Order: sequence, then structure tokens, then C-alpha cells
Amino acid sequence: MAARGAVLGVVASLCAALTACVPAQPVATVPRPLSEMEVALHSHVAVLASDEFAGREVESIGEGLTLDYLQAEFAAAGLKSGTHDPGNAWREPFSYEHQGRTIRTHNLIARLPGAEPQAGAVLLIAHWDHLGYGARCKRAGDDKVCNGAVDNASGLAMMIEIARALAKGPQPERDIYFLASGGEEDGLRGALSFVADPPVPLEKFVAVFNLDTEGVAPPGAPVVVLATPGPATVGALMSLVSATARDEGVTLVPPDEGNRKYLKRQDGWAFDAEGIPAVIISAAFAQQNRLRDYMRHRYHRANDDVAGVELGAAADMVGFHVALLQRAANPAMLPRAVTAAAGRTAITANAP
Ligand SMILES: [Zn+2]
Repeated sequence: MAARGAVLGVVASLCAALTACVPAQPVATVPRPLSEMEVALHSHVAVLASDEFAGREVESIGEGLTLDYLQAEFAAAGLKSGTHDPGNAWREPFSYEHQGRTIRTHNLIARLPGAEPQAGAVLLIAHWDHLGYGARCKRAGDDKVCNGAVDNASGLAMMIEIARALAKGPQPERDIYFLASGGEEDGLRGALSFVADPPVPLEKFVAVFNLDTEGVAPPGAPVVVLATPGPATVGALMSLVSATARDEGVTLVPPDEGNRKYLKRQDGWAFDAEGIPAVIISAAFAQQNRLRDYMRHRYHRANDDVAGVELGAAADMVGFHVALLQRAANPAMLPRAVTAAAGRTAITANAP
């Protein structure tokens, strides 16, 4: 999750982003047996948010370790490189100016080939980067590294397991792309780079799903769908999400102003702004008390460690996203967008 104001490079305090800044009690986590999926997610988070990975800061040693890990997992699952440059398989380099410096980093792009790629494509995103030892990491005593266990090792772990499940078949009709985006914490830079130079024409993407800051909600938690109303085609995607939730026994609850403010701080916004329907479907964002507690006490702090993640709902959301992506990749279930550009909106501000 990018900081408020990150898209415009404006420094804003977390307190200002919240309606009130009174101290909150940490939410207690009740010990319980973990499901097989939770164990799998936990093992990914333990690696990606380890001190060895140095907080996954762009250009750091953690960048290479993170991309190596993700590429190995995707390749082992049977996915292909999703870049359109044979000279840069899997990893698409891009650069941007940030605080007076040129940052050179990468998106990692994988693809599960569909039987009918001419029918379009579907995209799943999770940003791989975090704050590491950088200046914006709020240190906690002797702990000087922001490991980003919730933000966003939890989303990466889900993306790996979703890819593994989808690759087992049946083969989708449309191509399914997986984007582990870089530079998100500096203002959605990887997503914006992907939008500017996509592996297939951008209008081919009929639906975008983003995973960000997922590891705060317990199993069985209700789920919220965050979408920008701008793209004209988002209605069809929302209908598909509702129908899939009914079939999968997932309880959807309406978003409130408390979570709408995060829309412009997540990678899906880069697609919304181009008229491509993008959603973030998350139990974490439906748990306002837990999310607020996380935002106040661990967000962008050195104590966002693996010990604090709650992956119960994330495990539920793996299965839900597998079902959603299978359906979105089926032209009979999600007809092709015809007027994506008609809903075009512009990034005009980053204020909630
Ligand atoms: Zn963040």
C-alpha cells in the first residue's frame, strides 16, 4: 500500500489520512490450528519478509532475492514469462525519478497461456517492493528494517498460491497475466509503467484484480469489493464478482468511506484511470477495526513482521480469486469490454 500522497510525491502524515488519531488497543489474535493454505502462505511470507530479504527495497539486495523467489515459484508452477521483450524474460526494467534520483527497478511479469488469447486477458497484481532500510521506514527500537509482512508479502504469497492453483487447470480461455509490480511505494510506479508499455495492448485486459495489504483478517471474515465507478465496464465485473461470491459462499459487504480512501493508493488505480476495470477484493478492508489498528501501529513500520500477520482470510481469498480469475478468463462469463475508453477518468489528485 502506497502512502497517502505518494502518487504525487507529497509527504503527508498518517494521522491526517485518518479521521481520528487516538491510540488504539492492538487487536488480540486468538491462537488456532492453521489450514494447509495458511501454512503455505505463511511459509512464503516468512521468506519474503525475512531480514535476509532486507525489506524488499527497490535497487537493494532484497530486490534480486525477491524477484528470484517469485520467478522460481511461478516457473515451478508452470507459468511462462509474460514480458513482451525476449531480451528481458520475466523481468521488465523500468525507471523513474524519485526525490531527485533516478530509480532503476523491475516489474516481474508471468503468464498462464489461455486457449483463446485473442479473446483478451485478465491480470492479477501484487506489488513486491517495500521500504527496507529506507528513510520512510519508521524504525522500532533496534529493528531498522521495514520487512513489509502485511504490506505486501501477504499479497505476494496469495499471488503465488493462486498461480499454482490456476496452473493445475483447466486451461483458461483468455491469457492470465501476473504482475509483481515494483516502485509501488514510490507512487504506483510499476503499475503505471505496465500501463504505459503493456505486454499486449491494454484494451485486451477485461479485468484487473489487485492484492495488497491482505494479512490482517481472520478466516471467514466478510469481504469488501473496492472499485472506481469510472470505468464503464466495471458493472459487468461487479456482477461477476457478486455471482461468484454467491456460488463460493463468500459474504460481500459494501465498502464505506473508511476504505474508499485507499482506492487511489493501490495499483489498480493506474488501470482505473485508463478505463480498465480494476478491483481490490479483500477481507482486510472489511475489517475496519483490524485495519485501523494495523495502519496506526505497524503500517510502514519496522514491526510489520511475519509474527504479526493473520492469514486466515487471505487463505479464503486464494480460493475466491481462483474462482474469479477462472470466470473472468471465460468470454462466456465476462463478455469482452466494448467501451472501456468511454469510462476513462484521469489521475487528478491523490487526496481521498
Ligand atoms: Zn506500503
